[in-house]
Amino acid sequence: MTTEQEARWARARAADRARELARLTAADRARAVDEAVETAADVLDGATRVVLLGHVNPDADSLGSALALGVALHRRGVQVVVSYGAAEPDELPPETLRALDVEGLLHRPADVPVDPEVVVCCDTADRRRLGILADRVDAAETTILVDHHASNPGFGDVQVLDPRAEATVILVHRILDLLDVDIDPVIGACLYAGLATDTVGFRIGGPGPHRLAAELVEAGVQVEPLMRTLVDSHPFAWLAALGEILAGATLDGDLVHATVPLAVVESFRPEEVESVVDLVRTAVEAEVTVVLKQIARTRWTVSLRSRGAVDVAAVAVALGGGGHPRAAGFTRDGDREGILAAIRTSLGDSGRR
Ligand code: MN
Repeated sequence: MTTEQEARWARARAADRARELARLTAADRARAVDEAVETAADVLDGATRVVLLGHVNPDADSLGSALALGVALHRRGVQVVVSYGAAEPDELPPETLRALDVEGLLHRPADVPVDPEVVVCCDTADRRRLGILADRVDAAETTILVDHHASNPGFGDVQVLDPRAEATVILVHRILDLLDVDIDPVIGACLYAGLATDTVGFRIGGPGPHRLAAELVEAGVQVEPLMRTLVDSHPFAWLAALGEILAGATLDGDLVHATVPLAVVESFRPEEVESVVDLVRTAVEAEVTVVLKQIARTRWTVSLRSRGAVDVAAVAVALGGGGHPRAAGFTRDGDREGILAAIRTSLGDSGRR
């Protein structure tokens, strides 16, 4: 299938799922999630070989979810492999997230067994987000999805899919609770990492993330060193590169966009590149923020942010990606102007400009 066809299929599946969900009442939806959490715990309780996967370009919520569950299962004697979606079998995970892997459960995609008993897909909005590991979804005896993306069409045998959850780690915490797992500082740090980053430092969401954070701190999580490693540590050379990127940012109506050129993407870690959008989105004039990251000469990964009036997940889905209403993204071939034009068109289609 071409990327365009895949994008059309993804849109159709997302629309089907939205219609399906619209027919359910809030109580029905909550009950369906409760049941899925129980089924997931039952499956994991009886499992002996479990593969836990984060998505491509894994973030703290996806790998934190996979590692928290992985550590808990490993301690119960389960054979555990934690990995992540990737384009290449030898891709390494982000350096800062490796720090969460205290027990050495994290493996390159090349080392993931081809015939797992159970696969758990964490924070994975779409099975294509598993890259070369997407085939494990069908190869496994049972696949469990644990995710909170509204754009997720749903896949797998057990679907713990709850867009009300501010982070996937919140759903993982519910599964751990049913498995009677004691949250210690190691598991707690994995959960806290996903919770703090997906809520943008507890700015987004209700009281739930704050309550869980309190519980994790009580369990011994050392917040300051954890968050310093995760979000507040960049090489000195990054400051100059960042200065240039910010100086090149453009304000166009209420859309602000900035570009991270290929040379910069290749010279710095994903941690640096992914941090750009959080600075660009602070422009007070910007309703929508776009950061274009050039990952090959004619290929771009794009981060979208919204202040709330615009659903950028709809834009991302239309362009072959996915995400949340206020934070979404996609990857697409073309030139920079073409990608920007496609974003403007899609924003227009969603009735806005
Ligand atoms: Mn997430």
